[in-house]
Amino acid sequence: MRLSQMLFVTLREDPAEAEIPSHKLLLRAGYIRRIGSGLYAYLPLMWRVLKKVSQIVREEMDATGAQECLLPQLQPADLWRESGRWDTYTQAEGIMFSMTDRQQRELGLGPTHEEVITTIAKDMIRSYRQLPLHLYQIQTKFRDEIRPRFGLMRGREFIMKDGYSFHTNEESLKKTYQDMAQAYSNMLRRSGLQFRAVDADSGAIGGSGSQEFMVLAEAGEDEVLYTEDGQYAANVEKAVSMPADAEPSPFAAFEKRETPGTETIDKLCKFLKCSPTQVVKNVLYQAVYDNGITVLVLVSIRGDQDVNQVKLLNELTKLADNYQAKTVLFLTVPDAEAQRKWAAKSLPLGYMAPDVADDYIAGSKEVNSKFLRLVDRTAVDLTNFVTGSNESGYHVVGANWDKEFPLPATVVGVRTAKKGDRAVHNPEQTLQSARGIEVGHIFQLGTKYSQAMGATYTSEQGEEMPFVMGCYGVGVSRLAQSAVEQSYDKDGIIWPVAIAPYHAIISIPNLSDAQQVEVAEKLYAELNQSGIETLLDDRDERAGVKFKDADLIGIPYRIVPGRSLKVGKVEVVERATHKSHEILVDEVNSTLKQWIDAAIK
Ligand code: ATP
Ligand code: MG
Repeated sequence: MRLSQMLFVTLREDPAEAEIPSHKLLLRAGYIRRIGSGLYAYLPLMWRVLKKVSQIVREEMDATGAQECLLPQLQPADLWRESGRWDTYTQAEGIMFSMTDRQQRELGLGPTHEEVITTIAKDMIRSYRQLPLHLYQIQTKFRDEIRPRFGLMRGREFIMKDGYSFHTNEESLKKTYQDMAQAYSNMLRRSGLQFRAVDADSGAIGGSGSQEFMVLAEAGEDEVLYTEDGQYAANVEKAVSMPADAEPSPFAAFEKRETPGTETIDKLCKFLKCSPTQVVKNVLYQAVYDNGITVLVLVSIRGDQDVNQVKLLNELTKLADNYQAKTVLFLTVPDAEAQRKWAAKSLPLGYMAPDVADDYIAGSKEVNSKFLRLVDRTAVDLTNFVTGSNESGYHVVGANWDKEFPLPATVVGVRTAKKGDRAVHNPEQTLQSARGIEVGHIFQLGTKYSQAMGATYTSEQGEEMPFVMGCYGVGVSRLAQSAVEQSYDKDGIIWPVAIAPYHAIISIPNLSDAQQVEVAEKLYAELNQSGIETLLDDRDERAGVKFKDADLIGIPYRIVPGRSLKVGKVEVVERATHKSHEILVDEVNSTLKQWIDAAIK
């Protein structure tokens, strides 16, 4: 491609809308253009990158025996009602764009495809003989993200590879799951990324496991906790660890104390001169179940610990039956506005005890009249602890479970693991923390969807059995931007060779020099012919401008037919290192070929 003929517009200044380096660079270098919130045009250079990433993904998927297909993006609401996800996806998570057609039929724009694929399996897979089967597609997904940001990292329209596998049993699922873990590692390694596979939350779906593939970068929205021995790595949403030991309590007798202005643990511990490990704090949450019932949840947890909302949500989902519900739609910390809807009188916030009375709740058809009281494991063994007194400005000290306060019946593990905690597998290892960008997620689904949608096959014994399923996603467009986030310098992008839009760029320093033009044209034709994807910067611009642009767009090798033409050579500059080589014109092709092969491996 000749730059003179290409849609090639670079920006000198950092665009104001962009916060992180990769987003700024992709905009500045003319790879993407914002069309609306979370909506981007992939311009020609970007599209080449995306096609290369897709091709790597495709090759690794095909190598496992998975088959590519393409499913409709418009999905009938009925399918989502069958799986029970229509309400959650259009209301609670609100992530699915939905619409009504001219025949008044409801439709959703696909955020994911479990429903569609399960319907296909239900219709087409009759017998165990057809299993296992793995179908995948590479396609645009739509999600009405509440906070689209960072360019392609969190868009409302983005490219995903999603695959779904069907099995007769868990063992077969586990084999495909392992194959996928390997395929995902291959994809990321081949794309030139530094990454880590981590244990992930499998949420309400349960199932026996899920892993995320995290590209390590400061701008990552996820926190990863890991140990240096390489034995443990998990998303903080899922991570477990051993909490620090509690210090023995200095309070021997039960007593109510005036503790003015101590609504935070910090202030309280300063005031009482005690350790937060001797405090039971009581945190209020509000859960709305899918049948519309609101439940007020009081979590008692040790003062130095924080509640992990993902873990809490999973516990509340397990308790849904108690409220004749299936799932939790919303889980929030109720603000003043939310409290107005159900609080019978004003709550002693900051001073609540584990036994705060149920008559603070004005029960109704929609609001359960009793607190759901949960106690985290860290608080169960405390003795002579400090906690609230249910009266503003006062706490109690020297309290004990089953003496002053009944121990809540439901004991849960909802504490957040954090950096510095001791690891469970080996207490000598402490958890380290890193930021990560989730580019892939693999999942053992089990029979959640097949059971809900009645998708069965006939087993060898002639029984109707639900499919055992797995699902596997890669954010293709997010992956491409992650590569930039991991690889740039002050001059611009440094693409890994395997996914660079072009391998080389020939920058002609002076268009009026006939020899320069002639050599450039010759190399341009020759390199492209031999499969080295090459750009020709034949624009009527100063050499300095051309070099700057070549650096900004991050093409791995820049070829400059300049002064050394006198001795039959051109300059070849490596983008990543700025290292310059003088190479005989006749040897440019073979040299580049070698370099590229070595870089792609
Ligand atoms: P996240 O937690 O980042 O919102 P998710 O867990 O909802 O992602 P999945 O449903 O597992 O995402 O989708 C598979 C992959 O698709 C993710 O691992 C991610 O790489 C990509 N992805 C998800 N949402 C977006 C988005 N809004 N923009 C770009 N890529 C996305
Ligand atoms: Mg995910």
